[in-house]
Amino acid sequence: PPDVDTLGTHTWTLLHSISATYPSRASAQQQNDMRSFLSLFSRIYPCWVCADDFQTWMKKAGNEPRVEGREGLGRWMCEAHNEVNRKLGKEEFDCGRWEERWRTGWKD
Ligand code: FAD
Repeated sequence: PPDVDTLGTHTWTLLHSISATYPSRASAQQQNDMRSFLSLFSRIYPCWVCADDFQTWMKKAGNEPRVEGREGLGRWMCEAHNEVNRKLGKEEFDCGRWEERWRTGWKD
Protein backbone atom coordinates (compact mmCIF):
# COMPACT_ATOMS: atom_id res chain seq x y z
CA PRO A 1 0.00 0.00 0.00
CA PRO A 2 1.15 3.60 -0.55
CA ASP A 3 2.70 5.44 2.40
CA VAL A 4 0.61 7.96 4.32
CA ASP A 5 2.13 10.99 2.52
CA THR A 6 1.63 9.64 -1.01
CA LEU A 7 -1.87 8.55 -0.16
CA GLY A 8 -2.52 11.97 1.41
CA THR A 9 -1.29 14.15 -1.48
CA HIS A 10 -3.23 12.18 -4.03
CA THR A 11 -6.35 12.10 -1.89
CA TRP A 12 -6.26 15.88 -1.33
CA THR A 13 -5.95 16.28 -5.12
CA LEU A 14 -9.09 14.20 -5.51
CA LEU A 15 -10.99 15.93 -2.70
CA HIS A 16 -10.14 19.49 -3.83
CA SER A 17 -10.88 18.54 -7.45
CA ILE A 18 -14.28 17.20 -6.44
CA SER A 19 -14.96 20.52 -4.68
CA ALA A 20 -13.74 22.48 -7.73
CA THR A 21 -16.22 20.75 -10.02
CA TYR A 22 -19.13 20.78 -7.57
CA PRO A 23 -22.08 22.87 -8.82
CA SER A 24 -22.21 26.44 -7.53
CA ARG A 25 -25.72 25.68 -6.31
CA ALA A 26 -26.16 21.99 -5.59
CA SER A 27 -29.52 20.24 -5.82
CA ALA A 28 -30.92 18.38 -2.81
CA GLN A 29 -29.77 15.12 -4.41
CA GLN A 30 -26.26 16.44 -4.99
CA GLN A 31 -26.08 17.69 -1.40
CA ASN A 32 -27.16 14.30 -0.09
CA ASP A 33 -24.62 12.57 -2.32
CA MET A 34 -21.82 14.79 -1.05
CA ARG A 35 -22.80 14.30 2.60
CA SER A 36 -22.89 10.52 2.04
CA PHE A 37 -19.58 10.52 0.19
CA LEU A 38 -17.79 12.45 2.94
CA SER A 39 -19.29 10.32 5.66
CA LEU A 40 -18.33 7.07 3.91
CA PHE A 41 -14.93 8.45 2.95
CA SER A 42 -14.17 9.27 6.58
CA ARG A 43 -14.93 5.67 7.50
CA ILE A 44 -12.97 3.87 4.79
CA TYR A 45 -9.92 6.13 4.27
CA PRO A 46 -7.07 3.61 4.53
CA CYS A 47 -5.02 5.49 7.13
CA TRP A 48 -6.99 4.72 10.24
CA VAL A 49 -5.55 7.41 12.53
CA CYS A 50 -6.17 9.97 9.79
CA ALA A 51 -9.72 8.71 9.27
CA ASP A 52 -10.48 8.76 13.00
CA ASP A 53 -9.25 12.33 13.48
CA PHE A 54 -11.03 13.49 10.33
CA GLN A 55 -14.30 11.97 11.52
CA THR A 56 -13.96 13.54 14.96
CA TRP A 57 -13.21 16.96 13.44
CA MET A 58 -16.16 16.69 11.05
CA LYS A 59 -18.57 15.92 13.90
CA LYS A 60 -17.63 18.98 15.97
CA ALA A 61 -20.15 21.81 16.01
CA GLY A 62 -19.34 24.25 13.22
CA ASN A 63 -17.31 21.75 11.22
CA GLU A 64 -20.18 20.01 9.45
CA PRO A 65 -19.60 19.71 5.68
CA ARG A 66 -20.95 22.74 3.79
CA VAL A 67 -22.60 21.10 0.82
CA GLU A 68 -24.88 23.90 -0.50
CA GLY A 69 -22.49 24.79 -3.29
CA ARG A 70 -18.96 24.98 -4.64
CA GLU A 71 -17.83 28.05 -2.74
CA GLY A 72 -18.85 26.67 0.63
CA LEU A 73 -17.58 23.17 -0.06
CA GLY A 74 -14.25 24.45 -1.38
CA ARG A 75 -13.74 26.58 1.72
CA TRP A 76 -14.78 23.76 3.98
CA MET A 77 -12.35 21.34 2.31
CA CYS A 78 -9.59 23.92 2.64
CA GLU A 79 -10.36 24.29 6.34
CA ALA A 80 -10.37 20.51 6.77
CA HIS A 81 -6.98 20.32 5.05
CA ASN A 82 -5.66 23.17 7.22
CA GLU A 83 -6.73 21.28 10.31
CA VAL A 84 -4.45 18.42 9.21
CA ASN A 85 -1.70 20.91 8.26
CA ARG A 86 -1.82 22.33 11.80
CA LYS A 87 -1.76 18.88 13.36
CA LEU A 88 1.32 17.97 11.33
CA GLY A 89 3.07 21.30 11.96
CA LYS A 90 2.79 22.33 8.30
CA GLU A 91 2.12 25.84 7.06
CA GLU A 92 -1.55 26.77 6.77
CA PHE A 93 -2.92 27.46 3.31
CA ASP A 94 -4.65 30.79 2.57
CA CYS A 95 -8.20 29.60 1.87
CA GLY A 96 -8.89 32.83 -0.03
CA ARG A 97 -6.68 31.32 -2.75
CA TRP A 98 -8.33 27.92 -2.81
CA GLU A 99 -10.00 28.43 -6.21
CA GLU A 100 -6.81 29.69 -7.82
CA ARG A 101 -4.96 26.58 -6.70
CA TRP A 102 -7.64 24.04 -7.55
CA ARG A 103 -10.05 25.49 -10.12
CA THR A 104 -9.06 28.55 -12.10
CA GLY A 105 -5.26 28.49 -11.98
CA TRP A 106 -2.97 31.05 -10.30
CA LYS A 107 -3.43 34.69 -11.25
CA ASP A 108 -0.07 36.46 -11.58
P1 FAD B 1 -0.46 17.92 1.17
O1 FAD B 1 -0.91 18.32 2.54
O2 FAD B 1 -0.75 16.56 0.69
O3 FAD B 1 -1.09 18.99 0.14
C1 FAD B 1 -1.00 18.85 -1.27
C2 FAD B 1 -1.11 20.23 -1.90
O4 FAD B 1 -2.36 20.81 -1.55
C3 FAD B 1 -0.10 21.23 -1.39
O5 FAD B 1 1.09 21.18 -2.12
C4 FAD B 1 -0.79 22.57 -1.55
O6 FAD B 1 -0.61 23.10 -2.85
C5 FAD B 1 -2.24 22.22 -1.41
N1 FAD B 1 -2.78 22.58 -0.09
C6 FAD B 1 -2.17 22.52 1.12
N2 FAD B 1 -3.01 22.87 2.09
C7 FAD B 1 -4.19 23.16 1.48
C8 FAD B 1 -5.44 23.58 1.96
N3 FAD B 1 -5.67 23.80 3.26
N4 FAD B 1 -6.43 23.78 1.07
C9 FAD B 1 -6.22 23.59 -0.26
N5 FAD B 1 -5.05 23.18 -0.77
C10 FAD B 1 -4.04 22.98 0.10
N6 FAD B 1 -1.00 12.54 7.46
C11 FAD B 1 -0.52 12.22 8.68
O7 FAD B 1 0.70 12.02 8.83
N7 FAD B 1 -1.36 12.13 9.77
C12 FAD B 1 -2.70 12.34 9.66
O8 FAD B 1 -3.44 12.22 10.64
C13 FAD B 1 -3.24 12.67 8.37
N8 FAD B 1 -4.57 12.84 8.19
C14 FAD B 1 -5.06 13.03 6.93
C15 FAD B 1 -6.43 13.12 6.74
C16 FAD B 1 -6.95 13.24 5.47
C17 FAD B 1 -8.44 13.32 5.30
C18 FAD B 1 -6.09 13.28 4.34
C19 FAD B 1 -6.65 13.37 2.95
C20 FAD B 1 -4.72 13.22 4.54
C21 FAD B 1 -4.17 13.10 5.81
N9 FAD B 1 -2.80 13.03 6.03
C22 FAD B 1 -2.32 12.75 7.28
C23 FAD B 1 -1.84 13.28 4.93
C24 FAD B 1 -1.37 14.75 4.95
O9 FAD B 1 -2.48 15.66 4.95
C25 FAD B 1 -0.52 15.11 3.70
O10 FAD B 1 -1.21 14.72 2.53
C26 FAD B 1 0.85 14.48 3.71
O11 FAD B 1 1.52 14.79 4.91
C27 FAD B 1 1.69 14.98 2.50
O12 FAD B 1 1.80 16.40 2.63
P2 FAD B 1 2.33 17.36 1.52
O13 FAD B 1 3.25 18.32 2.21
O14 FAD B 1 2.86 16.60 0.36
O15 FAD B 1 1.08 18.24 1.02
